[in-house]
Amino acid sequence: MKTWSEIAKIQPMASKVITNSIKKDRISHAYLIHGARGTGKEAIAVLIAKVLFCENRQGAEPCLTCNTCKRIDSGNHPDVHVIEPDGQSIKIEQIKNLQKEFTYSGLESDQKVYIIKGAETLTANAANRILKFLEEPNQKTTAIMLTENSQSILATIRSRCQIIDLQPLNPTHFQEKLVESGLTVTSAKLMSSLTNNLDEALEWSGDEWFAEARKLVVQLIESFIDNSSDVYLYIHNHWLNHFKERTQLEQGIELLLLAFKDILYSHLGNEEGLIFFQQDERLERLSMYFSQDRLTSILHTLLDAKRKLKQNVHPTLVMEQLTLQIER
Ligand SMILES: [Zn+2]
Repeated sequence: MKTWSEIAKIQPMASKVITNSIKKDRISHAYLIHGARGTGKEAIAVLIAKVLFCENRQGAEPCLTCNTCKRIDSGNHPDVHVIEPDGQSIKIEQIKNLQKEFTYSGLESDQKVYIIKGAETLTANAANRILKFLEEPNQKTTAIMLTENSQSILATIRSRCQIIDLQPLNPTHFQEKLVESGLTVTSAKLMSSLTNNLDEALEWSGDEWFAEARKLVVQLIESFIDNSSDVYLYIHNHWLNHFKERTQLEQGIELLLLAFKDILYSHLGNEEGLIFFQQDERLERLSMYFSQDRLTSILHTLLDAKRKLKQNVHPTLVMEQLTLQIER
């Protein structure tokens, strides 16, 4: 999504509001763009920056070919600063550094843009520092904050920003896009339940790591049936070797959730709802083994494991507890 007309296809309202203000030459000095992953937050932020700097802008559309547009794309424009969480949060030092940069006069012009990704992770100190910045608006400085959760942003910051609420992506539309890009209908369903991001979905669908992850999920579930005494070993020898990073482990749990939901759907005769498995003998065998009650409790256990990972409980511990509870 590189132009307003492309963005308008998935975010018609946001695109209209922003392009109207560009045409009237009334770009806000602070935006808070709120939307789920993959809804276009970053694309919109980059486009606003290009609008402000492009040498050959036509109406609201930057040219995308001038030197300035290219430098913004490659992250090399001296007056466009991007701040991302350092680990779990955006720290006050990062904001101090940004402000230090801003005290030097612009290299290209007086115009400056800063984009804050994951603005909900600003620490209290960092957020207060940003607030001071926003309280003394400078005509030549534009702040663009991006967040998946605008409620965790200080109300005093929110009130100083123009808030752009992005719409959630329509899953059917997204699946169609994936199929157009070459995925089978089955993979498109699976991918669209894991991400809203087209690039990510395409990457995973061709990824060996991901194919192996799917295989391990099936093996783990089958090991509960075939030889439950080995499950624990299986976790240590195979599962934890493959799902090493926390984000990978989160994805493993996500896949387990989808697989167990399918087994439950098979009980309920909801073939339309199947995402991980296809309707086949394997699924039938699994649904004979796990009762509906047990599946419901397994799904709760998995959701609980997901929460624990987010709360930084040690991954090995989470998986060990999980297996014990499923085996029960
Ligand atoms: Zn340009």
